[in-house]
Amino acid sequence: MNTSETFNDHVMATYGRFPLTLVEGHGARVRDDAGREYLDFCMGIAACSLGHCHPRVVDAIREQAGKLLHVSNLYFTDNQGLLAKEINQNHVGLEGKIFFSNSGAEANDGLIKSARRYGHLKPQANGKPRFEVVTFKQSFHGRTLGSMSATGQAKIQQGFDPLLPGFRYLPYNDVAALEDSVKDETVAFLLEPLQGEGGVNVASKEFLEALAILCKKHDLLLMFDEVQAGFGRCGEAMAWRVNAPDIEPDGISWAKGMGGGVPIGCFWLNDRAVDEKGTKLSSLMGPGSHGSTYGGNPLVCAASLETLREIREQNLAKNAIKMEGRIRAEIASWKLPVVTEVRGLGLLLGIGLNPNLIPVSEGETCALKVVKSLMVKGLLLAPAGPETIRLLPPLNVTDAEIDEALALIKGVLSEFLPEQIS
Ligand SMILES: *Cc1c(COP(=O)(O)O)cnc(C)c1O
Repeated sequence: MNTSETFNDHVMATYGRFPLTLVEGHGARVRDDAGREYLDFCMGIAACSLGHCHPRVVDAIREQAGKLLHVSNLYFTDNQGLLAKEINQNHVGLEGKIFFSNSGAEANDGLIKSARRYGHLKPQANGKPRFEVVTFKQSFHGRTLGSMSATGQAKIQQGFDPLLPGFRYLPYNDVAALEDSVKDETVAFLLEPLQGEGGVNVASKEFLEALAILCKKHDLLLMFDEVQAGFGRCGEAMAWRVNAPDIEPDGISWAKGMGGGVPIGCFWLNDRAVDEKGTKLSSLMGPGSHGSTYGGNPLVCAASLETLREIREQNLAKNAIKMEGRIRAEIASWKLPVVTEVRGLGLLLGIGLNPNLIPVSEGETCALKVVKSLMVKGLLLAPAGPETIRLLPPLNVTDAEIDEALALIKGVLSEFLPEQIS
């Protein structure tokens, strides 16, 4: 029995999987069960930030696996503390505290719980807690009940109502819509500085700054979901710093790229004082308030620590900017009518496609059609919404790998010309 049959018999069909079984990977390349090699610019959806099986990460895992895999969070372990310090001092650059989870969705649930706690500490005028977290349309925050309810996309929520109450969705990047948007029960804003799944949309400097001012004015928490965009991918340690470096968020969530391929996430709360007594925001999540059996265990923290050190020591955020320039210049030079625009930052880029030039079959989007054609040619990409293909190469990708991928993309996209459609 082959792998896809075994899956169909035993694994829930929550994903529309491509007909490809991957067995091995090194750097920017993966190999399937027939021995065919692919250039991987999907990278586990931006999770393998150093490429597949980076020796530094593999060595760290091997060494830690022989020493201590897991103990309860009832005890201290070296790696978790070192990783939190590495994140705080070398990547966030602000004083705060971290809670480790196993995924991005859980990290966002942690931020949502933190916002609710804050709403108890700083209630409405009538004494009732504030609880509402405002998020944005086209956002993606995860699949748990909390993070799904925070996600501003009906297709993610369909069939799962009633959703967790206390969310409202505003249009993204719309400064005017922020006006009068704060209600008595509102306690926080949560957003991706760069929306990944929603189509690769970058928050403008104006929008981020207007939000920061609004949050200060109404004593709301400003929380960034950097699960996909953080840790060098967008050309800075943190994505919000690309356009609005002076903003100091109250909360941040991460996962994906921080693990270099192992399942780890976390959320961060600012150490700033929230009352005259000097109570720190980060202290709101005190003993007994939250937990995770596996969160931040020695194995995943060892892998994450080496991943983040490598990103920092090799200045891979800078490589992301350099490669962004190379990609944008090359695609612009094609002057292909099917390409509407290139959006994004660093190595989280979306190529917008003109759906009128791409004939699709029933139930297929033009992004999916292009992704499938590229897979056959030897390049793996992910769609981002119906009309955007997303490039997520490893942060240490080389000029030659970029050029190889772009040549394949050009070849496929050159097939879609205006005269072919009547
Ligand atoms: C992937 C993603 C999540 C969810 O992360 P999981 O690890 O899949 O739970 C949340 N937010 C953003 C921005 C993401 O891209």
